[in-house]
Amino acid sequence: MEQCSGINNRGCRCLKKTRQSYSCYGIEIPLCSHHKTYNPILAWSYSADYTAASEVIVKWLNFYSDIVGKSVIPSWLAVYITSRLYEQIPSDLPSYDLMRIFFNSVLLPCDAVECPICLTVDDECVTTPCGHSYCRKCIVRWMHKKVQCPLCRKIIC
Ligand SMILES: [Zn+2]
Ligand SMILES: [Zn+2]
Ligand SMILES: [Zn+2]
Repeated sequence: MEQCSGINNRGCRCLKKTRQSYSCYGIEIPLCSHHKTYNPILAWSYSADYTAASEVIVKWLNFYSDIVGKSVIPSWLAVYITSRLYEQIPSDLPSYDLMRIFFNSVLLPCDAVECPICLTVDDECVTTPCGHSYCRKCIVRWMHKKVQCPLCRKIIC
């Protein structure tokens, strides 16, 4: 039995024990039957006090605030990057490195091609997982706004 990761209406962690865990942004979080329909990470992100949150949620929130706090990227993208990187990476890396690791993990170097965004041939070309190629600086700039391939609209992950 594990302690539920939900927050009660006094802003404290729920004291109930549970055998059930639920998937939330790619991680499994224990939740009691009352809290199973809550999104615990979203709830804790509104709470000023993370100290009562479970270890997994604190690690997730540290990632999230690192990315949101030190860059101009929108919060939905920070959620996306956080959920991608959560399992693999120690939580004390600077946000710059988190972004770099994220881009390096999804954009692989390829032969020089004409970039469909700027229509030039750049030295540093990369391919997305859906198989479309761009110059690195164009697609990185694009991905700060949308994590979708500009050509086929697939999520880049
Ligand atoms: Zn609960
Ligand atoms: Zn380009
Ligand atoms: Zn594509």
